[in-house]
Amino acid sequence: MKIADALKAGPCYSFEFFPPRSEEAERNLATAIRELAPLAPAYVSVTYGAGGSTRDRTHDLVVEILRDTGITPMAHLTCACHSRQELVDVVTRYRDAGIENILALGGDPPADSDQPPGELKYASELVDLIRGVGDFSIGVAAHPEPHPHSPSIEEDRRRTAEKLSKADFAVTQFFFDARHYFDLVESMHALGVDKPVIAGIMPATSMRSITRMSELQGSEFPRELAAKLEAAEPDGPEAVHRVGVEEATRLCRELLDRGAPGLHFFTLNRSMATREIYEALGL
Ligand code: FAD
Repeated sequence: MKIADALKAGPCYSFEFFPPRSEEAERNLATAIRELAPLAPAYVSVTYGAGGSTRDRTHDLVVEILRDTGITPMAHLTCACHSRQELVDVVTRYRDAGIENILALGGDPPADSDQPPGELKYASELVDLIRGVGDFSIGVAAHPEPHPHSPSIEEDRRRTAEKLSKADFAVTQFFFDARHYFDLVESMHALGVDKPVIAGIMPATSMRSITRMSELQGSEFPRELAAKLEAAEPDGPEAVHRVGVEEATRLCRELLDRGAPGLHFFTLNRSMATREIYEALGL
């Protein structure tokens, strides 16, 4: 199934996983996939370690998901540190394995790496390369807040519109205030691009990890949300988790009510928060 076709049929719900690094992590992921499969996601996606650190593990997991669960998978792929030929080889292998969906990303070269930067600089070049290899449905990343390396929000919106006009859909970085998402979508429309923009959802179920990830991604962690989580902290991690799920559910409801074409859950290879949000939304 091509994700672009699924999006034409109505809102798409999807889950993101990363390739596990140990046997225990593999077992945890298998449990998460088993528990999330009954929610019948439109697709699930598997991240890629920039610089190629998970090249085979991402490939194998994507192919296993298709073979063993029948769920539509999407492979992430990043330009960083790869030659053009290496990227063609990765994409060709997916095509030959029957994979139909790829998320084309710029990626960030690993901080401690001495690898060369790579032949392709931006995700939009990877979209062109993938189109040359096969008939894929291609997604790209979009940054509601915007991308932390951009000189200005206007410049980032313009670059995102150029990239999205060549791709089939976008998946956003996570955000906690729906205003950022709708501002991005309105900017795309103003720039003449009306491809679907799927909202990336990261439930804030732990103060420490969410603060660190927000800093890394340039996502604002609203004071009001932080205060609610802090107020729950004395009652323990389960209370914080509950508040995080309630707040994420509220955000998802607003996004769906105002016409978002899909929600993409960054699961961190765990199923609980996503299942609870699904239930609260009545999906
Ligand atoms: P690009 O589209 O390449 O843009 C990067 C920057 O360059 C932006 O500031 C943009 O405005 C600017 N730019 C774009 N085109 C041009 C141009 N032609 N000229 C000048 N400037 C330009 N990372 C991973 O390593 N692995 C993953 O699996 C992964 N999955 C992700 C999934 C999602 C949903 C999201 C939102 C991000 C993911 N990332 C992943 C992170 C991503 O790789 C980083 O955010 C990276 O820094 C930028 O990637 P991009 O594809 O958004 O960048």
